[in-house]
Amino acid sequence: MKSPDFAYVRADTLDAAFRLKAQHGADARWLAGGQSLLAALAFRLSEPTALIDISRIDVLQGIAVNGSMVRIGAGTTHTTIGESDIIRRHVPLLADAVPHIAHTAIRNRGTIGGSLAFADPAAELPACCVALEATFVAASAKGERRISARDFFHGVYATALENDELLTAIEIPAAVAGDHHALIEITRRSGDYAMAGIAVALRRSDDKIDRVRLVFFALGDKPVVAHVAAGVLLGTDLVEDQIERAAKAVSADLDPPGDLNGGPEMKRHLAQVVLKRALLQILNNLMRMPA
Ligand SMILES: Cc1cc2nc3c(=O)[nH]c(=O)nc-3n(C[C@H](O)[C@H](O)[C@H](O)COP(=O)(O)OP(=O)(O)OC[C@H]3O[C@@H](n4cnc5c(N)ncnc54)[C@H](O)[C@@H]3O)c2cc1C
Repeated sequence: MKSPDFAYVRADTLDAAFRLKAQHGADARWLAGGQSLLAALAFRLSEPTALIDISRIDVLQGIAVNGSMVRIGAGTTHTTIGESDIIRRHVPLLADAVPHIAHTAIRNRGTIGGSLAFADPAAELPACCVALEATFVAASAKGERRISARDFFHGVYATALENDELLTAIEIPAAVAGDHHALIEITRRSGDYAMAGIAVALRRSDDKIDRVRLVFFALGDKPVVAHVAAGVLLGTDLVEDQIERAAKAVSADLDPPGDLNGGPEMKRHLAQVVLKRALLQILNNLMRMPA
């Protein structure tokens, strides 16, 4: 199938982007890496009147540490994030997530802002951002606002962004001593979207877990936070029995829809598998750390 006709315009600054959006109206869409949008156009799942290319706006690029926060420009590609020393050191969960996203060619053009705004429930970065308690910066001609990752995802391909807003940056608290993380997913083939996955971020002090975020992807219409299973882990140390108990509890957190990969029961089973693998990975890493 061929995409419908559309106008193409490029903005080199945020102000130009907002001007072009006002000019082309509600049916104009932002174009970042094009890795999801152009496929949607080819299948006529989306029929915008105009694409506003935001990929060359300087302020949307780059990764920096600002005090205790890491700021990632929304236009930063998956590859740049995966290769960044700042990310490896301060937000290692994202560095671990990137190799799971599609293939090199897609990671070279696809952007973190595009992935979050597209809000595919099987994508890795939305779940990581919820697990890391990230904040998203959205801007329009009216000004800027901050939205917590927790409140950003509304459903399949649906977010808190207004039609005239674009994401400019993602702010993530830098990891501190005692922080541990894991990202585990199950796919049919390397590079496919996950059949089930989990992003885990936890903090230990005095041999006890005092913060934990277990966030599933591909198991709901948006990233799913497992509060019940997290409750099992809080205040305890990470030991195999406790991991088993958390895995048993996780069914209460999930109501997974069936999809092409399998029915709800299989999805519940996969949720237990990824949860156990992620927590055991953290436990194994802890056991390798010098006392
Ligand atoms: C074959 C294939 C396999 C893939 N596998 C995976 C995978 O395993 N995991 C995964 O996470 N992703 C996967 N992807 C998607 C990939 O990660 C995309 O790069 C990403 O979802 C979209 O990023 P983009 O920059 O290309 O956005 P675009 O395609 O340019 O845009 C996507 C949507 O976001 C909007 N948008 C873009 N940037 C902004 C912004 N700054 N503010 C507001 N709205 C914005 C656009 O208007 C559009 O609606 C896959 C894609 C393909 C083609």
